[in-house]
Amino acid sequence: MTDIQSYLKHYDGPPLRLMEVCGTHTAQISRCGIVSLLPPSIHMISGPGCPVCVTVTAYIDRLTALCIEPENVVVSFGDMLRVKGSRKSLNDAKAEGGHVRMVYSPQDTLKMAADDPKHTYIFAAVGFETTAPVYTMLLEEAEQAGITNVKLLTSLKTMPPVIDWICANQGGVDGFIAPGHVSVITGSRIFAPLSEKYKIPFAVAGFQGPEILAAIYALVKRRGKAGVLNLYPSAVSEQGNLSAQRMVEKYFVPCDAAWRGMGVIPDSGIRLRDEYARYDAGSEGLTEDCGANARCQCAKVLTGALSPVECPLFGTCCSPEAPQGACMVSMEGSCYNYYINARKT
Ligand code: SF4
Repeated sequence: MTDIQSYLKHYDGPPLRLMEVCGTHTAQISRCGIVSLLPPSIHMISGPGCPVCVTVTAYIDRLTALCIEPENVVVSFGDMLRVKGSRKSLNDAKAEGGHVRMVYSPQDTLKMAADDPKHTYIFAAVGFETTAPVYTMLLEEAEQAGITNVKLLTSLKTMPPVIDWICANQGGVDGFIAPGHVSVITGSRIFAPLSEKYKIPFAVAGFQGPEILAAIYALVKRRGKAGVLNLYPSAVSEQGNLSAQRMVEKYFVPCDAAWRGMGVIPDSGIRLRDEYARYDAGSEGLTEDCGANARCQCAKVLTGALSPVECPLFGTCCSPEAPQGACMVSMEGSCYNYYINARKT
């Protein structure tokens, strides 16, 4: 047992609730059995860092409507194809004759569009600060190559406002493992104002089990005090990736954004600038979120108000084979990761 493991195992301070924001951290915490190394007084909760999970049904409904129109082809990552809107998923729409293509990289969309100028290729651009630069590269390449039949349906979100929302509306979080991939782009400094505002420590962490454990240790030691601890200096600087930030600012501006379970949070997203509106497939006003299964508790799971195992559908009628909500569909979703790793708390 390492010193860190020993300290955490024998921790006898006040009960703590620590939130990992990033979906990849959620997956690793479950996969590595991190919770089994902690005493019951240190409780890990998952946050809103799975981009597919926080996407509202109105956005998916818009995608399913677009793909039915004969002139369009909707292009998406795989996870998004299985998430249901108010009635159906993109996969359902495809089975009904909709034009839907799955890709591993948004850049693949450019070749499809160049080879097929009679159709408009619409990429389902969801994600956080991490993926926004990738979409700017797509737009940049489309501009340079003169490809005009590519558009984005954007649902791009930014992390600090949603963490602020959780602290202000829900509270009960004693420390955050800051999203590592987001921090690569934004830099660790972006969390400093929130840390000061709520007097809560943030730890930027890598994705290996020992790195996550070190972040938990750092948060426990710093409980009750502000501070941003960068424990991932090989990838994250204080300033972040300035050229990526500049690219994002070139194409996008802040906007209000709708989050599943939290509603519209002011300035928590980005949209295409007016001068690039020709690339937009109708992203504005997609705020409604009714959910395909009224009993699904994703809204509470995403804010850490409920553990996946507390959802009455978890493992009964909801599983990765028959998901009832987005959190069971995505490989970054809390419910999916609790299920496949048999995590109990
Ligand atoms: Fe929704 Fe299924 Fe998770 Fe319950 S277990 S919150 S139904 S995704």
